[in-house]
Amino acid sequence: MSETENPTTPPDSTPIDSTRIDSTPSDQFDFDLFVIGTGPGGEGAAMQARKGGMRVGVAERYRQIGGGCTHWGTIPSKALRYTITNVMNVLKNPMFRELGIHATPSMEQLRRGTASIIAKQVSMRQSFYDRNSVPIFSGTASFVDEHTIQIHGENYTSKNFVIATGSRPYRPSSVDFSHPRIFDSDTILDVKDRPSSITIYGAGVIGTEYASMFRNLGIKVNLVNTRSKLLEFLDEEIIDALAYHLRDQGVVLRHDEAVERIEGCDDGVILHLKSGKQLKTDILLWANGRSGNTEELGLENVGLTPNSRGQLEVDEQFQTAQPNIYAVGDVIGYPSLASAAYTQGRAAAMHMLGRIDGNLRINDIPTGIYTSPEISSVGKTERELTAACIPYEVGHSQFKSLARAQITGSTVGMLKLLFHRDTKEILGVHCFGANASEIIHIGQAVMSGPCNSLEYFIETTFNYPTMAEAYRVAALNGYNRLF
Ligand SMILES: Cc1cc2nc3c(=O)[nH]c(=O)nc-3n(C[C@H](O)[C@H](O)[C@H](O)COP(=O)(O)OP(=O)(O)OC[C@H]3O[C@@H](n4cnc5c(N)ncnc54)[C@H](O)[C@@H]3O)c2cc1C
Repeated sequence: MSETENPTTPPDSTPIDSTRIDSTPSDQFDFDLFVIGTGPGGEGAAMQARKGGMRVGVAERYRQIGGGCTHWGTIPSKALRYTITNVMNVLKNPMFRELGIHATPSMEQLRRGTASIIAKQVSMRQSFYDRNSVPIFSGTASFVDEHTIQIHGENYTSKNFVIATGSRPYRPSSVDFSHPRIFDSDTILDVKDRPSSITIYGAGVIGTEYASMFRNLGIKVNLVNTRSKLLEFLDEEIIDALAYHLRDQGVVLRHDEAVERIEGCDDGVILHLKSGKQLKTDILLWANGRSGNTEELGLENVGLTPNSRGQLEVDEQFQTAQPNIYAVGDVIGYPSLASAAYTQGRAAAMHMLGRIDGNLRINDIPTGIYTSPEISSVGKTERELTAACIPYEVGHSQFKSLARAQITGSTVGMLKLLFHRDTKEILGVHCFGANASEIIHIGQAVMSGPCNSLEYFIETTFNYPTMAEAYRVAALNGYNRLF
């Protein structure tokens, strides 16, 4: 591998965008691109720009690179989930019970593996910057003007900027986050004692993922939803399945609720709801929304104004109202995923390089939700297809009928294909169950390729036994509905 190669960035072969013309000579600036933030959004932009021959600098205010993704979001939460699942699978196994093995691992024990995974991620990601000669400036960056940034009193100039400063949990002033029993999604990772009960306020992706995790540990969970359904952006059947399985596992779901006040006590936290209900548990996790990290950026000096949630508005090319300043990742809001942030960062850099985003499929981002059961989807939902009057048909495959699922004991789950009844084109893939977030990519690959048709799955030989076989079963199931 050559000095500048980065295994996470593919070669650039996209066409030139003739609309992106900026004749300012870049050698009048210290950098061609300066990126603020080293999460997936910042890394994607920095590496793509470097591959295109740009001089790139990066700022990071945290002591280590990697962003919220590595230190207090995706990586720690998924590492903890994996440990909890493995430990509980062993402890629930009848063979261990027979041997008299009982244990209640502490939170500290469950968290132990997480630190080493974070360290590996940081070291690997740091090597990308080092090998590609991208200097990282440690400190909080703020704009002086549209071509100048200041870090620790030093000014640096750049032709372009990417703001990839991420987000943090939204903290309303009415909630006392200094109370030792009240947490948000950043601080919950440090919970010291294993609680016997938890109330989670907010049933978005983060809230439902933590509800699953705590329930798997045998902790009593109240999941309080401010809306009438869980994760409304998902396909209806998947929403129903998630609600059914969470309830089946013992999570108490409360829909259409709103907080009146939160009372922190010595022995617990009481959530007072506007409906008159009161829920008392050992601890409370506030998981209701996020705010973009924009207030330290000196945006007033470049004429940019974030919305009430601190998020920046961008166009399709991720340019803000100041065209040489781009913004990507959580700081621009939905979908607020590490996967999307990385792709957006790359797309912004490509645009600066004068290239059209030909292959990044930025509007075709899959969802991956690490609840129990795991959920993943790509493409349209039944609701969207019905609203658009597209004549579609459905094919299902239940995991319980697959040999591989029976062998591994992962029989909870389903794969669902939505396809056009005339052209057989696959329009949406929705899955829940073990490894759904991996399984979905088979459907995504076929959907985005030249052989996007139900027939691909009917005519293809799948390894046996595999979970991938679900695609053939679902395709045949759907095909048999046609007349
Ligand atoms: C609990 C939890 C679980 C999640 N699970 C998943 C998941 O499973 N899959 C998934 O795809 N996504 C997941 N996410 C979302 C994912 O973590 C974010 O979408 C992703 O981190 C956003 O990347 P980013 O680059 O925009 O910002 P971040 O990763 O937050 O990085 C922003 C960086 O900018 C730095 N910064 C901020 N301001 C400045 C400044 N002024 N100067 C210098 N540096 C600055 C910050 O220190 C930070 O390092 C999860 C999030 C949470 C909270």
